[in-house]
Amino acid sequence: MEKLEILKDLAAAFRWTAKLNMHEAIANHFSVCAPNSNEDFYVNGTGMHFSSIKASDLFLVEQSKINELKDKPELVDPTALHIHGSIHKKVPHAKCILHVHSKYATALAALEDPTLPPIDQNTMRFFNRVGVYRDFGGMGFEEESEKMASKIGNKKVLLMANHGVLTTGQTVAEAFDELYYFERACETYITALSTQKKLKIVSDEVAEKTAQEWENFSTDAKDLHLKAIRSILDKEDPSYKN
Ligand SMILES: [Zn+2]
Ligand SMILES: [Zn+2]
Repeated sequence: MEKLEILKDLAAAFRWTAKLNMHEAIANHFSVCAPNSNEDFYVNGTGMHFSSIKASDLFLVEQSKINELKDKPELVDPTALHIHGSIHKKVPHAKCILHVHSKYATALAALEDPTLPPIDQNTMRFFNRVGVYRDFGGMGFEEESEKMASKIGNKKVLLMANHGVLTTGQTVAEAFDELYYFERACETYITALSTQKKLKIVSDEVAEKTAQEWENFSTDAKDLHLKAIRSILDKEDPSYKN
């Protein structure tokens, strides 16, 4: 995919995440690798609201210049440089990283046991498929970021205890679909917990089978999901593409 299309996809993901109210003030970051690189990445710059980000706003971070940028917080949030910089460098499948403190994923991250039990199709999608970083030690600067990156392994989702979540993908569409469904799954679980009734948890076998069924049919669905969002934005406010 050419660079401009990738940046438009990421801008659309920012806009839609704001509509879903999964953003937080002007914090949180989405990043995607430059098309010819596994390490250099585009990310939102300091002070930008998710709801108004345009493709041309996205800031190119070259790993060779990352240390200089860390002294310029007016350009890019240093925690974005640390967290996204470490993960893009260490995790080859994380071409795109979406990092938020969305309401329900963060509520899950606040529980003593942040395991998502298989109670519906969306929670089953993530059965045994979530990395968990349990040792929150402060904001995402150098040491903390390296530890986070080491907990992803081959997973696409990293739940960061006492913090939030990040999802990864080979493409923006894949990481966004992951983020959307993970937040939905957490919403269902937290809502079910709030009834204080006993949960109906399915067997590991059924949960694993359902997770594999998601994996087998959902590659196109992920692309179509973002495409559908872009076609709505194209009618409502195509400025994300500028
Ligand atoms: Zn981030
Ligand atoms: Zn965060």
